[in-house]
Amino acid sequence: MSALSDLQATLDPSRKSWIESANDSTNDFSIQNLPFGIFSDRHNDARRVGVAIGDQIVDLVALQAAGLLNVAAKTDVFARDTLNDFIALGRDAWRSVRIQVSELLARDTATLRDDAALRARTLVRQAEAQLHLPVQIPGYTDFYSSKEHATNVGAMFRDPKNALLPNWLEIPIGYNGRASSVVVSGTPVRRPNGQLKLPDQERPVFGACRKLDIELETGFVIGAGNALGEPIACEHAEAHIFGMVLLNDWSARDIQQWEYVPLGPFNSKGFATTISPWIVTLDALEPFRVAQPVQEPQPLAYLRHDGAHAFDIRLEVTLRPHQAKQASTISRTNFKHMYWTMAQQLAHHTVSGCNTRVGDLMGSGTISGPTDDSCGSLLELTWNGKKPLELSEGGTRTFIEDGDELTLAGWCQGDGYRVGFGACVGEILPAQR
Ligand code: CA
Repeated sequence: MSALSDLQATLDPSRKSWIESANDSTNDFSIQNLPFGIFSDRHNDARRVGVAIGDQIVDLVALQAAGLLNVAAKTDVFARDTLNDFIALGRDAWRSVRIQVSELLARDTATLRDDAALRARTLVRQAEAQLHLPVQIPGYTDFYSSKEHATNVGAMFRDPKNALLPNWLEIPIGYNGRASSVVVSGTPVRRPNGQLKLPDQERPVFGACRKLDIELETGFVIGAGNALGEPIACEHAEAHIFGMVLLNDWSARDIQQWEYVPLGPFNSKGFATTISPWIVTLDALEPFRVAQPVQEPQPLAYLRHDGAHAFDIRLEVTLRPHQAKQASTISRTNFKHMYWTMAQQLAHHTVSGCNTRVGDLMGSGTISGPTDDSCGSLLELTWNGKKPLELSEGGTRTFIEDGDELTLAGWCQGDGYRVGFGACVGEILPAQR
């Protein structure tokens, strides 16, 4: 078979795995998904590359040692703390590894299925594994590409009649974020301290953030960078993307409102950004490609691309107060509503000649949909605290309280299977005194 038909076979909805948990239509990690991550476990604390399947992880170091994984470059890239060396091998290598893993896990392939000793060496239960930040991130950029979100924020903080600034429909607006504080799902996040400008006082006070918020985003990870001075063309941009994660761009709204003029957010965003641990490849997302919203006015030439460049990814946010049994779903939306595409974001980022590197993380911007309950931040859901949310176990929220656990979930729903991201979770700890 050709490489292309092998790739098509990995996306075939009828392909099932001998790992039965992967065949559950609500499990994020179907055999059609096969996302990459970094894990360790209690028997082996060495961090290494794994692939999620059902409730298991395939250990690629063990698979290669067993002679079951053929990597063209024949380099040792799996016994690593991060995916960067693997990603740097290039798209043909990611694709080939995903195809080989799919074939080994397919129901009809006996190699692992019928060999208990080999299975014991190459599979780790997710419940017994610890997941780590999957990439070393040289740079983190955050965009602002949801028209609904930008309109809501503009209406709240500036002028409802002119909510979108004139540049918004021309530029995929973004800023350079802080890579050092990107953490993996499960890492607790401390409420930040900072300058707060209270309405009744002339000067700011110093103290703990009182308006702590989430931002529901996705992120994409650069798989092939560009050299300084050599922009990435919009029509080629997707070939530079390794895959996607869920991203919570924690935001201190009161610190933000005081500091953001004229250069944008700083301390209000730099204290933490949480990402989900598994990187879902663009190959796995391909069956869920859909048209992006119509762009009017037509973007400048360097931002144009033919065809469909959005993806149908369902998104949900839940909030669970400290020790509560039940979490409340506070938002449901979809990535397909985003006005600017990932390809346009990357083309714009590099058009000046700015270089990108393997592992760079690009946040989508808060993803808000067209309805009141599809907003991707508490700022919008509660209209800056004016409309508290009712929680399912009782109580209300305007912004996040200490001990609250926020979880982002995201998945593409196929016919009988899911291509999901796993959870992106963070609990808020009290501010440092
Ligand atoms: Ca953001």
